[in-house]
Amino acid sequence: MASKFQAPRGTFDVLPAQARARAVVERVAAELFARAGYEPIQTPIFEDTDLFERGVGKSTDIVRKEMFSFEDKGERSLTLRPEGTAPVARAYLEHGMHKLAQPVKLCYGGPFFRHERPQAGRYRQFHQLGAEAIGTDSPLADAEVIMLLADLLGELGVPGVELRLGSLGSLEARREYLEELRSHLRKNKRKLSADVRERIDLNPLRAFDADDEGTREVMASAPMLVDQLAGEDAEHFAEVRALLDAAGIDYTIDGSLVRGIDYYTRTIFTFDCDVLGAQSELGGGGRYDGLIEQLGGPSTPAVGWACGIERILLALNEEVAAPGRDAFVAIAAEGQRQRAMALTRELRRAGLSAEVDLAGRGLKGQLKHADRLGARQVLILESDGSAQLRDMESGEQRSADTANLVAELTGGGA
Ligand code: AMP
Repeated sequence: MASKFQAPRGTFDVLPAQARARAVVERVAAELFARAGYEPIQTPIFEDTDLFERGVGKSTDIVRKEMFSFEDKGERSLTLRPEGTAPVARAYLEHGMHKLAQPVKLCYGGPFFRHERPQAGRYRQFHQLGAEAIGTDSPLADAEVIMLLADLLGELGVPGVELRLGSLGSLEARREYLEELRSHLRKNKRKLSADVRERIDLNPLRAFDADDEGTREVMASAPMLVDQLAGEDAEHFAEVRALLDAAGIDYTIDGSLVRGIDYYTRTIFTFDCDVLGAQSELGGGGRYDGLIEQLGGPSTPAVGWACGIERILLALNEEVAAPGRDAFVAIAAEGQRQRAMALTRELRRAGLSAEVDLAGRGLKGQLKHADRLGARQVLILESDGSAQLRDMESGEQRSADTANLVAELTGGGA
């Protein structure tokens, strides 16, 4: 029955079996967010392109190569959101949330879009869950959001999780460090890949991410910002580490850690999973004290993360069984159709899961279908108006009083 149409490259259909596993992840996350006081926010699927150019940074791969941008009929450039933090920061400003008690703690989930080369764990439409604490520079907030993601992955039972922690320092410290890094790169220019060489001025940090041998060799002797943190940057990083230590959260310090987005300052982190292949990063984030100002707002410190639902599902590699049904209403004679619909509705309204035959099967076929659906009981409506209730596990059948149907089915009846 294949048609010539397929889901576009790098996208996928979420079929019911996978949707069940996703719903578990989303429910666990929603409960965790609620317990920690992170309130849901939803922003549009597309935004002004300019928001991401300014927010994510023009030198990043996301903005240079990966955005799905288009013009609307008014010739405005719009972009399918490639990430969630810039939109949330935009909403924070637009709705004057800086006037609320700070920090404002928000969480979100939904589809995101990047024009990347599709492979396992890397898609063009993917789904993220994220959390942001906006309006505080306290290291407690850094530790809280990191704990939140650690607890999410822990509660879901994701195996082989490793937390890596780094710090990019404040914007000023970073500026000085970037000059030092640039000069190291320039000195070793010949050994660098063309891509890294081209971006020495624009985005030298990305050199830490390169996987060609030449660049790697140069980076092995590169100066590291975590080794040079001073003053408040150093204190902040030490306190985040002490808070994680006290909470019993394991991590390794990684001076070569960089993120694909420009807005990060001070703390950055990633959670990797050792059972995933090349795309091993489950999620990550960090502090972005300059972003809101960059978007035209007042200077507002903030910290947050995003994690990929598909990567979590790949790491869990678990199926969630179909839930079965409390009841199936079988129509033994055509004249019983209206009654069957009414009784099915009554059961559903009472909070039970119930299905009725929609396909005109014979009674035998209906019982078979009820079994396939995992129905625990089948109500058989006979032509004379009587009804039988069949327990699908024991095969026992008894006459049922449809005037007290819910009680009959839940065992609370006469
Ligand atoms: P980022 O917004 O780049 O920090 O990514 C946060 C998380 O989103 C990553 O750790 C991945 O789990 C997930 N992610 C990012 N890009 C993709 C993609 N193209 N396909 C699937 N998951 C992705």
